Amino acid sequence: MNPILTQKLRAHERASAAEVIRPDVGGSPLLRRCKQSVTTETQEYRATVGLLALQGDFGLHRQMIEALGHSAVEVRTLSDLERVDCLIMPGGESTTIRKLMKQEGLFAALPQFARTKPIMGTCAGLILLGKAIKGSPGEDTLGLIDCDTSRNAYGSQYQSFRDVGEIRAGNGAVPLEMVFIRAPRIVRVGDNVEVLGRLNGEPTLVRQGTILAMTFHPELSGDARVHQLFLSLVVADPN
Ligand code: GLN
Repeated sequence: MNPILTQKLRAHERASAAEVIRPDVGGSPLLRRCKQSVTTETQEYRATVGLLALQGDFGLHRQMIEALGHSAVEVRTLSDLERVDCLIMPGGESTTIRKLMKQEGLFAALPQFARTKPIMGTCAGLILLGKAIKGSPGEDTLGLIDCDTSRNAYGSQYQSFRDVGEIRAGNGAVPLEMVFIRAPRIVRVGDNVEVLGRLNGEPTLVRQGTILAMTFHPELSGDARVHQLFLSLVVADPN
């Protein structure tokens, strides 16, 4: 890691590896159960996590999932989708992922899937999960989380960067390294969406019910806390 990032991390007190981001779980019984320790729960229940594997950066998510004691299955077809307890939509190229999802019938199937099963979207995945894409009214989205994004909002591939943002933990916030690759920005967040992570005050990690989405790539930082949070949503309701 570069020295500036190391310094920034030291400036905060670094969260212990076991620390879990606890969403403010509001009234839903399913989410209230997420308050229990994920470490204990994940040991009891081994989830089958789907990795949308049509295009983009799905491979490294497997390592995170397996390190947390769960299994990962690549999802390319509707029959793959039927086998999984939850789905990770990776970063990549949202236009390509959308096109391939539509060809496979996965775009049409996800709203029904999301009624009972959690979905995590990183970067391009977030763009597709959101309500609208600023400046691109013709590009449709799933609308499963009430936020709008702006694509490539930090510039081109050359402007990709890592930095240390903050994520919610208990009543406070702890630092988290965030990797941004031709990343979108979240430009609007609806009232029912919780902001769980920020960089320089801007939302980077959001949750609505069992949909978790982020502008950065948590699979690239070697820190499993975002995956752990997602799995806590899965494990809270393993049916
Ligand atoms: N720029 C890509 C898009 O708009 C997203 C980049 C990413 O997923 N890392 O689809």
